[in-house]
Amino acid sequence: MDSLPSLGVALADPGLAGTDTHCPYCALQCGMSVVQAEGVWSIAARDFPTNRGGLCRKGWTAAELLNGGDRLTTPLMRDHKGGPLRPATWEEALDRITTGIRAIQADAGADAVAVFGGGGLTNEKAYALGKFARVALGTANIDYNGRFCMASAAAAGLRAFGMDRGMPFPVSDIGGADAVFVSGGNPAETMPPLMQWFEEGRARGAHLIVSDPRRTATARAATLHLPLTPGTDAALANGLLNVAIARKLIDPDYIASRTEGWDRVRRIVASYWPDRVERITGVPGRDVERAAILLGEAARAEGGRAIILSGRGTEQQSHGVDNALAFINLALALGLPGRAGSGWGCLTGQGNGQGGREHGQKADQLPGYRLLANPQHRADVAAVWGVDPISLPQPGLSAVELLSATGGAGARIRGLLVFACNLLVSAPDAAALRGRLDQAELLVVADPFLSETAAIADVVLPVAQWAEESGTMTNLEGRVLLRRKAKEPPAGVWTDLQVIAALADRLGAKGFTADPEATGDEFRRCTAGGMADYAGASWDRLPVDAAGDAGVFWPCPDADHPGTPRPFLDRFAHPDGRARFHGIEHQGPAEQPCADYPLILTTGRVMGQYQSGTQTRRIPELAAAEPAAYAEMHPDTARQHGLAPGDDVALSTRRGSARMAVRLTRDIRRDTVFVPFHWGGEGSANRLTIAALDPVSRIPEYKACAVRLDRAPKESA
Ligand code: SF4
Repeated sequence: MDSLPSLGVALADPGLAGTDTHCPYCALQCGMSVVQAEGVWSIAARDFPTNRGGLCRKGWTAAELLNGGDRLTTPLMRDHKGGPLRPATWEEALDRITTGIRAIQADAGADAVAVFGGGGLTNEKAYALGKFARVALGTANIDYNGRFCMASAAAAGLRAFGMDRGMPFPVSDIGGADAVFVSGGNPAETMPPLMQWFEEGRARGAHLIVSDPRRTATARAATLHLPLTPGTDAALANGLLNVAIARKLIDPDYIASRTEGWDRVRRIVASYWPDRVERITGVPGRDVERAAILLGEAARAEGGRAIILSGRGTEQQSHGVDNALAFINLALALGLPGRAGSGWGCLTGQGNGQGGREHGQKADQLPGYRLLANPQHRADVAAVWGVDPISLPQPGLSAVELLSATGGAGARIRGLLVFACNLLVSAPDAAALRGRLDQAELLVVADPFLSETAAIADVVLPVAQWAEESGTMTNLEGRVLLRRKAKEPPAGVWTDLQVIAALADRLGAKGFTADPEATGDEFRRCTAGGMADYAGASWDRLPVDAAGDAGVFWPCPDADHPGTPRPFLDRFAHPDGRARFHGIEHQGPAEQPCADYPLILTTGRVMGQYQSGTQTRRIPELAAAEPAAYAEMHPDTARQHGLAPGDDVALSTRRGSARMAVRLTRDIRRDTVFVPFHWGGEGSANRLTIAALDPVSRIPEYKACAVRLDRAPKESA
């Protein structure tokens, strides 16, 4: 077992007067101060319940982008398809967009214009974008890139618990647990300050168990690493439950009093004995037994506490919801969810991945986790918006389906407005997507930088970034917090809310404002009575710079409500208060290795880059640390393919090919190749990935497809 990675923990220098706010990146939403000295912006850490003064390398360097660089400060437009982007006035750009929208909708109907949002948008912006799509555009087609991330865990949580509160307990509970199982997650690289809670547990003798095809930094810190074959998570979870039953580690009283559906699950997992699970997953049967015993004994001990955490490795699969449900079955059988200090939770990745999926930028959804398909929900929200419920569209296409329907004449979607998302890097099967976006009649991208997607747009709108506007975020724990503005945007830059309000106005829609707090007040009214009820979480309850700043956990239905850190202590959110087991059989990935494509490609993240890299690739320190994509493989795999470290390799799948340098490690399965996905161009992992979707969450299968390796001539890479 290795030591946990250094966190770079430091506390704010009391001599520096800065603006207390939160990190622009991941869902841990670490507290930080943005400080200006001699005209240069920098970051100082500050104490907040999630990070306790710790920041990762991305957080420390986040102010770099406030100091200039290649920031967009004027709208850009193309006079004709294929022509160059040229500077334009805001008036010109907005005119072009509204003219284009009207022309497409007049010819092909309201749904022919779509909106694509992002999990990094504040709650207020996600809300405004959903309202803009349904009220100003009247289109059914809006979805967001959270569909690429947390959608399977969200769907599984809804099915099992009746509510999607990703991690329904504070991260401090991790420090108090006696055993933690991380399924397909690598927080030591993706959110390093979280590891202090694991370290706290380990100092007390707690066990960490990690299932991952790679022996990641998190796995190296674990008591036990289970190196499963990509796409076999449900079989592993069923095997763990099989052992827990055999060893009498389950909690029959909890199962009887708090759950439904146990008998079917017990029958199904009876055939997942350790030897069979070893054949499916590649994990030695004795390690399956040991993991189940470590977790089960912690759960059964007097006062014992155990936690299962789910990451993208388990969820970004064409059976991602089943995988997450199989681990929830294990958690329920051990009596963990709804027990203080124990539970099942999702390691949400994107900065506002939780809030972004609650307030209306999803294809099927209205604010407060209300549903477009529910007549009462439509009436509730329509009353706040001052519109007829009948005028609201029905649910639209989910992210990948929406992008697949986009194109030129004859396509179902001919105009696309993209906010806070770099689709050409983050979406699956990116080469095919590029062809479709090139044909679209109107592609609009709002971004602070000329991302790969903005570079092919017809109109590019320069918008403010995190520290240039205020708004609320909901972190991975369901904690609503205020990310405060630290500086004005550069001259010429608008906020997303300004853009949305201006476009709505030009399209003749009333009731939009560029003011984030006023948008927040309206958005909270819209959530009142919904599952994700924020009605009491007003900005004045989020005193960022006050002692005890800790945000407010939803549901928080009124101003006097203290918030709800652990929503399932007394009952789950299904009408009868009980959680649901779901019988899950192992099915495996949509695409299996074969003679032509004999290895398994899996994709993921590295510590020094964030998501599509639009921000972090522009930060010199981060770019120097991780300058380009690479193909990580076992030395034996490389040898079989005539590859050596630093060689250029061509990776090919049925979708396309990519080229990058070879990196060797013994910490990966011999049948698996890992590629980080933060880069575009020839090193784009998503030129390779498959757009196979989970039938429930519609998440793409980023974690497993069949791939071939060929040595590439150095000069062609
Ligand atoms: Fe914290 Fe995540 Fe920002 Fe790193 S990227 S400082 S872990 S919020």
